[in-house]
Amino acid sequence: MKEKLKFLGIASIVVLAAMGFYLWGLNGSQTGTGLEIVKSAEAAGGEVTDPVGTAPDRYVYYPGTEKLKKDEIRLIACGTGLPAARRDQAATCFLAEVGNGDKFLFDIGTGSMVNVAALMIPYDFLDKVFLTHLHTDHWGDLATLWAGGWTAGRTGPLRLWGPTGATEDMGTAYAVDHFLKTFNWDAKTRNFVLSPKPGEITVKEFDYKAVNAVVYQENGVTIRSIPAIHAGDGPVSFILEYAGLKVVIGGDTFPNKWYIKYAANADLAIHETFLTPSDLVKWYGQSPGQALGVGTQIHTSPQAFGKVMSTIKPRHAVGYHFFNEQGTHDDILRGVLQTYSGPLSLAVDNMVWNISKEKIVERMVVSPDQAWSVAGPNKPPKPPAKGTVPDPITDFIKEGRWEPAEAAQAEMIKEFKEKYKMK
Ligand SMILES: [Zn+2]
Ligand SMILES: [Zn+2]
Repeated sequence: MKEKLKFLGIASIVVLAAMGFYLWGLNGSQTGTGLEIVKSAEAAGGEVTDPVGTAPDRYVYYPGTEKLKKDEIRLIACGTGLPAARRDQAATCFLAEVGNGDKFLFDIGTGSMVNVAALMIPYDFLDKVFLTHLHTDHWGDLATLWAGGWTAGRTGPLRLWGPTGATEDMGTAYAVDHFLKTFNWDAKTRNFVLSPKPGEITVKEFDYKAVNAVVYQENGVTIRSIPAIHAGDGPVSFILEYAGLKVVIGGDTFPNKWYIKYAANADLAIHETFLTPSDLVKWYGQSPGQALGVGTQIHTSPQAFGKVMSTIKPRHAVGYHFFNEQGTHDDILRGVLQTYSGPLSLAVDNMVWNISKEKIVERMVVSPDQAWSVAGPNKPPKPPAKGTVPDPITDFIKEGRWEPAEAAQAEMIKEFKEKYKMK
């Protein structure tokens, strides 16, 4: 695969509707004057010479089948959409996996956990979450990661980083404190049968006004924060540095001076590019006044996104935060191309980028719809000792048990206990 995808190549997307993923123009040799015939070895998939052999490249990523190189970053879009739910596209979530084994979730927007879970990564490896801001399309699935991970193998607390707000009640610590209060019933009923440890969330709140400040530094990974301009004080963008590589995860924002300065020369720069005002009217039912405000002041228009990218010149630009379909994609691409002509992805869910000094490769994830959680290396912590946690079920409810159900399952339980040598 060629190192740089020409934008005209990218524009030539072939939609494999039946297979449910996009195949990008990978050969990089298209000129825009029509398709040229390329040698089969150069074309997507590579040359297949043996009818019973393996193919050299299926231009897809099967999670868990590739070792990440020490000096490599793999970034997976687990959500690229909008607050309104859509089966095809969850709300914002990017998973960064770096060559030392560490993994970082940037935002955990509504619906995104189905894509995260389909990667079948042990929950112990998914314990670090960085929030750009507190709109639900950026943290609406925290509950799913929190409780789902708790029941499915996470052995320690979730670690969460997020910005302060202009006042205490607009900050991440306040939000998580009240999140845990909201899910009090969930936690108290699980605590009775599971260790409470994985149900804890440790919050590291950092100043949203801090510019290029280090918010995380461990094992050769540095994550910095820059302010963003979006809806209210508090939102930020993140810059991840590892092995001499720089990946910028832009949160919701109007184009801002901090992104221009600190995202410059990034290897991969993610920035929102919103639906065009016309499409907001046409598809989202917004009034023209509202569409113009949302599409050009609270968010970033395609033309402004292009200007940001042609200014900071990343090795590869990624636009997201719109429902990406035929009806919107072309309008956004046309807007971006007015101001930017470099390497570009207009993201959909399950797009994956492998980033190294040598090349940036974009593919699609192919993962199971019916994924199970997989065990990690750590032993699950013991549930609380009997009598140490109050029983959340009173006698009034217990006395309502219908006894014929016990009789009906007695034989099955007996066999099960024999099989597992239980008393
Ligand atoms: Zn937002
Ligand atoms: Zn958003």
